[in-house]
Amino acid sequence: MGKQCPVCEKGEGFPFFFCEKVPVLSNVLCLSPEIARCVAVGTLDFYACPRCGFAWNAAFDNAIVRYDDNYENNQSHSDVFAAHLKKVVLNIKNSMPPSPFSVIEVGCGQGYFLEFLQQCLGDYLIQGIGFDPALRGQKTTKNLRFFPEFASTELLPKDLSSPLLLLSRHVIEHVEKPFQFMRSLLKLTPKISAAMLETPSVEWIVENKTYFDFCYEHCSLFTSQSLSFLFSRLNSSKITIIKIFKGQYYLGLGTWDLDNNVSENNTLHNKDFISFYDDFADAYAKFAESWISVISRWVHEGKKAALWGAGAKGVMFASMLGENSGLVAAIDINPLKQGHFLPLSALPIISPQEALYRGVDIVVIMNANYKREIESMCSKMGFKPFIMSLGTENL
Ligand SMILES: [Zn+2]
Repeated sequence: MGKQCPVCEKGEGFPFFFCEKVPVLSNVLCLSPEIARCVAVGTLDFYACPRCGFAWNAAFDNAIVRYDDNYENNQSHSDVFAAHLKKVVLNIKNSMPPSPFSVIEVGCGQGYFLEFLQQCLGDYLIQGIGFDPALRGQKTTKNLRFFPEFASTELLPKDLSSPLLLLSRHVIEHVEKPFQFMRSLLKLTPKISAAMLETPSVEWIVENKTYFDFCYEHCSLFTSQSLSFLFSRLNSSKITIIKIFKGQYYLGLGTWDLDNNVSENNTLHNKDFISFYDDFADAYAKFAESWISVISRWVHEGKKAALWGAGAKGVMFASMLGENSGLVAAIDINPLKQGHFLPLSALPIISPQEALYRGVDIVVIMNANYKREIESMCSKMGFKPFIMSLGTENL
């Protein structure tokens, strides 16, 4: 990736964050500590556009990123996340005309969201088509069809009805050239009347100084302005950008001559992105140092500390602190992850029950949105560690 902004193609980017030796894939399942220590590593060399605020990793090399069956990122085990998905469904419903419609989901994972969408919408969902090369096998139900492949026109059913929504959740941040990617998706079929993208907000990451939200896979991170620019370059007639998941994600919606009740284009103030990104990298050294010293103090006091959340945030946090961080484990409720090891840091991934059994005294939550849910889960099982959240609580 070069230095020109890949979204507006008008801004010359400036560097704002650099971090070496991070795992190329955060959600890969490692069967042993040895395998975990040998995972491929890459460099984060983030640039930002002064015009639209878009942030991209100039050191990103798509050739070394390979998603396969060993990639696990299902978050549906959490009630908080389920509530978030309900909000996404509600936004989809409100964005489309009040009549039945069809959906193409690009990057559908294991099809969970399309199935959930159908459960919520019933007959309002005429057809749902899911594409994902990481899909484990092809499954078809009455209205849903899934393809373990990249989206292509040839695979689309000939009788696909409109209005048609192109949906892509948490995919665009993995794409090196978001504009070209979206343009090619919109060419799948002329029947597409709306497109919805869900993606992390880089504004939230920078404002909250959550360095561990940067990861190698996420080479393209959006501000609301850059997401809006993306849709306007795609000649969308109406653009709506909203914040969801307590500001951590954006839902961007663009429509093409769709007669519906979508709210007006949100007004974007001209933000000073240079000063916005300033100080971010400087504070990074302090962030890692202060955590290392706090954890070593806990170790000295004979306390066992574990992080909670073996997803990308947990993997990056553990990697930033290094293998000798003093953390004893990563707790995760996803049974598919338990028994494995975090890439690079090689922290064992354990269940909450095992954390209780091992006598974990301190739990550091990777995402504050889950704090209440985790506290209630721990208290129900008689597990009473001291619990704190990253990004929201000062050391
Ligand atoms: Zn730009």
